[in-house]
Amino acid sequence: MSILLPPQASSASSPEVMTAYRFVPGKTEPQKEVVPVPVPGPDEVLVKILAAGVCHSDCHLLEASPSNPHFPWTYTLGHEGAGIVVAHGEQVANDPKNVPPPRRRDIRRRAPHERMRVAEVRQLQSRPREQFVKARASTIVPVPGNNPGDARLTPGIVAAATDAVMTPWRALKRVAELKPGQTVVILGCGGLGLNAIQIAKHALDAGTVIASDIKPESLAMAHDVGADYAIKPDSVKALLADKKILVDVVLDLVGIQPTVDSAVDMLRPGGTLLLVGLGAQAVTISSLAMTMKQLLIKGSFGGEYRDLEESLDAIAAGKVKPRVEERLMDECGKVVHGLTKGQIRARVALVPKL
Ligand SMILES: [Zn+2]
Repeated sequence: MSILLPPQASSASSPEVMTAYRFVPGKTEPQKEVVPVPVPGPDEVLVKILAAGVCHSDCHLLEASPSNPHFPWTYTLGHEGAGIVVAHGEQVANDPKNVPPPRRRDIRRRAPHERMRVAEVRQLQSRPREQFVKARASTIVPVPGNNPGDARLTPGIVAAATDAVMTPWRALKRVAELKPGQTVVILGCGGLGLNAIQIAKHALDAGTVIASDIKPESLAMAHDVGADYAIKPDSVKALLADKKILVDVVLDLVGIQPTVDSAVDMLRPGGTLLLVGLGAQAVTISSLAMTMKQLLIKGSFGGEYRDLEESLDAIAAGKVKPRVEERLMDECGKVVHGLTKGQIRARVALVPKL
């Protein structure tokens, strides 16, 4: 799913080639290559990319090679894009009002090959004024407000929102169905967690939001963005007992055995464990605890069109303020490997040189 700043017609013709950072099987560094600018099909638009978000998915794609590549072919990296429409196919009028309505398909019904297509068409490219991606017009999400100068919706923030806001938005609102006044514990205060806190507290009106992370600096940020309590994992149980708090939902953004164990332990009877983190390939859950407490266990991945629309609306309204650091597109490899090594705290969006 691509996302756009307000579409703007451009009379300037697009260049024929551009530079792209690509995954090549067997390589763990993004390969800088010159590739043709894509030509939009009848129902597609050509988007000039203004920012491309980076997340751990990029790390997994690069570092899975050579022993276990997810996609064993060469393709352009990147999957979180913000840009401007600069050209369109003949079925798409160059007017945002005439962009066909989105097909609101539920991600759960998508076939695996469709997900791969998404991974392919979401691109991360480099070269000033020459980075383009084509996408089906029906997958484009206009940015609210139609104001490219809006400080709340910079290209970097919009790009990062396609994952770091949309994913926790869907998880908390649609999958966990978090209700106003409920208590939610968020395990992991990284890029998604800091947004999840704001979504729960300021957009979905949770009663109490408890954030937990092993890093003190992450806890300080969690507190800054609205968590009622921001504490280390080994202190959560004592807090719940001390304050007599019942936990309705645990959002596990880490997904390793210790976080799942603590979630099962801290949930009230009938509570919901919402798994989003993919830290471990597999986890085990105590069948005794699960049945005796009658827990509900759900998983969530990414989001669909309306989740991104609503995420952007929440950002436009000032309810969610994603923290995004902008870095130059040429730093692609450095940023991805820095993220893998835990050296990058903030959410990063890559932007072309001005
Ligand atoms: Zn991502």
